[in-house]
Amino acid sequence: MRDKSQLKIIVASGNEGKIAEIKQILKGFDVISMKEAGIYINLEESADNFLGNALIKATALQNRLIELGDEEFLVLADDSGICIEALDDEPGIFSARYANIEKGILENASDEENRAYVIKRLHAKGMSSSPARFVACVVLMGRIKFENEIIDVNLQASGECRGMIFDNEKGENGFGYDSMFQPDGYNVRIAELDFQEKNLISHRARALRALSLELDSRFK
Ligand code: IMP
Repeated sequence: MRDKSQLKIIVASGNEGKIAEIKQILKGFDVISMKEAGIYINLEESADNFLGNALIKATALQNRLIELGDEEFLVLADDSGICIEALDDEPGIFSARYANIEKGILENASDEENRAYVIKRLHAKGMSSSPARFVACVVLMGRIKFENEIIDVNLQASGECRGMIFDNEKGENGFGYDSMFQPDGYNVRIAELDFQEKNLISHRARALRALSLELDSRFK
C-alpha cells in the first residue's frame, strides 16, 4: 500500500478559486497547481460537454508531463459551470466566457462581467430568478508505481448542486456565480457560506469525493 500523502496530484487549471477548493476537498493528497509545478500550458476547452473539456485539459497536462520525462504522475482536471433553466441551460460549458460570447471574444470574461451578463439575460426574459444547477465533471489520470508495476489511472466522476439563481448578489466568499446562487435547502447564497460549508454541498466537492473514494480504496 502507498501513503496517499505521497501521491502528487497536479491540477490542470489556472482558476485560483477552484484550486483552493480542490486542495481542501482532497486534503489527504499532495495537491498542487500547474503554477506551483512550474508548468505553463494553454488549456483548451473545445468540446461540447463538461466531461469532454475535462478530458482535453487532463490529457494536455498529461502529455506535457510525459514530454518532461515524468514516470509517475497524476493529473486532475475539472470542467464546471452553471446551467440556468430560464436560459435553456445556458451558460453551461460557456460559464467562464459567457459575457464575451456576444462580443465574439474567445477568452474568459471576468466573474463580474459574467454575473452582469446573466442578470441582463434574465431581465431580457422578464425574470428576476430561475431554478439552476452547478455541474462539475472531474477527471483524474496518470500512472503510479505500485509494487514494481506501473499502474494506469483513469477515473471520472460528476457532481451537481441544485438551487435558484437571482438577479442580485449577496456574500463575499467563493468565486464565479456564488453570490447569485442559493442552494436548495438553504436561505443564503453560496458566497455567504464559508469554505467548509460550500465544500459539503458543492458540485465540485460531490464529484471529487466520488473520485477520492475510488483512490482511497487503492491507497491507505
Ligand atoms: P471552467 O471549468 O474553468 O471552464 O470554468 C468554470 C466557470 O463556471 C467558472 O469560471 C465560473 O464562472 C463557473 N463556476 C464553476 N464552478 C463554480 C463555483 O463553484 N462557483 C461559482 N461559479 C462556478
